[in-house]
Amino acid sequence: PLGTPFAWVLVRLDGADTAILHALDAPGPDAVSTGMRVRVRWAAERTGAITDIACFEPCEGRERGSARPHDGVFADPVTGIVAEARLDYTYSPGRAQTAYINALSERRTVGERCPSCHKVYVPPRGACPTCGVATTDRVEVGPAGTVTTFCIVNIKARNLDIEVPYVYAHIALDGAGLALHGRIGGIPYDQVRMGLRVEPVWTDGGRYPDHYRPTGEPDADYDAYKELL
Ligand SMILES: [Zn+2]
Repeated sequence: PLGTPFAWVLVRLDGADTAILHALDAPGPDAVSTGMRVRVRWAAERTGAITDIACFEPCEGRERGSARPHDGVFADPVTGIVAEARLDYTYSPGRAQTAYINALSERRTVGERCPSCHKVYVPPRGACPTCGVATTDRVEVGPAGTVTTFCIVNIKARNLDIEVPYVYAHIALDGAGLALHGRIGGIPYDQVRMGLRVEPVWTDGGRYPDHYRPTGEPDADYDAYKELL
């Protein structure tokens, strides 16, 4: 930092509890000792950065002991600083959910089967909460499914551009061991029923089906979905 001999020193500024490493302008070892008083030598041009401290220099004897700890009151206090920051990250919701989301981008739905009870979880969480074992057997389900239960929504949701009333349903996709949620469209709301066979309707760029509509198949038997209500 200097063109002349200097020492690296730890300086504890008056009032501080910790020391900073900096350069001390000193002609030789005899000019440096622990406990000596030093002061900041400011840079010729100051920009408000740490580089404003050009180095430290020994204090004159007359200043020895004259410095008092700062009282913490400043005439022009710094209330904030602007610093550029950048944060790079890769979001991974886990092995099972990643596979689920990646499959959705191809308009497929995948779950995972428990090796113990053979239930197929959609969306998969990576483990069976009943058996407590990892689910690794990936299973593609749907795309069609069966309405197991439903409700008629009469209250318009904020920021949701869907005319009421509409039907929100539990839908058991074919092959899935539990139902997921979805909106039912393409049929008057008062004609939706348990057992109705439905299929997903995708919109351009959608990461999830926009809604489900009737397939036209005969309704499923109650026995076929009674465990999935
Ligand atoms: Zn299980």
